[in-house]
Amino acid sequence: MTRHDVGTEAAAGAGAPSDIAVAVDRLVTAGLKSLADYESLTQEQVDHIVKKASVAALDQHTALARLAVEETGRGVFVTVVAHRQPVYRDQPEDVSVRWGYGLFPGRAGNQTPKPMTMCSGREVLEEVLHHFPFDERTAARILETSTVVPCVMPYITSQFLARRRDDRPRVVPEGSVNLAFIGQFAEVPDDVVFTVEYSVRTAWTAVARLLKLDRHPPEVYKGHHDPRVLASALETMHRR
Ligand SMILES: Cc1cc2nc3c(=O)[nH]c(=O)nc-3n(C[C@H](O)[C@H](O)[C@H](O)COP(=O)(O)OP(=O)(O)OC[C@H]3O[C@@H](n4cnc5c(N)ncnc54)[C@H](O)[C@@H]3O)c2cc1C
Repeated sequence: MTRHDVGTEAAAGAGAPSDIAVAVDRLVTAGLKSLADYESLTQEQVDHIVKKASVAALDQHTALARLAVEETGRGVFVTVVAHRQPVYRDQPEDVSVRWGYGLFPGRAGNQTPKPMTMCSGREVLEEVLHHFPFDERTAARILETSTVVPCVMPYITSQFLARRRDDRPRVVPEGSVNLAFIGQFAEVPDDVVFTVEYSVRTAWTAVARLLKLDRHPPEVYKGHHDPRVLASALETMHRR
């Protein structure tokens, strides 16, 4: 299925549903049934599924990354973030700050034949530059005028570890009147960690509840309960 097919279907207007619409309906119905089945699983079964799904996705990471690059026509397998400057309040005007990360620091690079964790800042930059179509002069100038500070974050993905429902404390534990937990390791039902929003939500919740304020954070958006989102996800998964 392609976006074009769906657009054609929408443009056709009223009339008998096309094969595509019927197929999408069937997939959405099956998806909603799976969701309902999922709710009745035990924590161990959920852990098992999440573990298998993570391993399967990790196993295909290169293929998935390549698909993303092919589909968007942009990017390589590293993330480099170029924020609007200045990033820091006291940053001099003639300095610009970029940051990025490599998802597989234990692997040898294409340009530098050793793992990123063993590289100096300059070597990391050489590897990154190798993946961009800069001419030699530009690459040399970037190397000459840049300072790279490598940083290893071995626990950063710990936020995604499989866990039991009561492993992490609620923001305001039951019965607490003056103690709350904020940040990525406090439990917020239905929300997804590794976002600034998550931490802000915990802080807002803590202040609002303990001080008994009227304004609480908005509900967490549950896209997985929205048939339009599910249909769009299914379409994306089956797009060729
Ligand atoms: C590579 C990467 C990319 C990310 N990309 C995104 C993104 O695109 N969008 C998004 O929404 N989120 C992103 N995140 C997640 C987001 O940055 C974090 O979830 C968010 O910054 C957490 O905010 P926080 O205030 O809870 O904790 P932090 O920002 O970690 O702040 C905690 C602070 O406490 C300090 N501290 C720790 N221990 C002590 C101590 N004992 N005494 C005093 N101070 C201490 C630390 O130095 C730190 O400054 C990303 C994170 C990473 C690592």
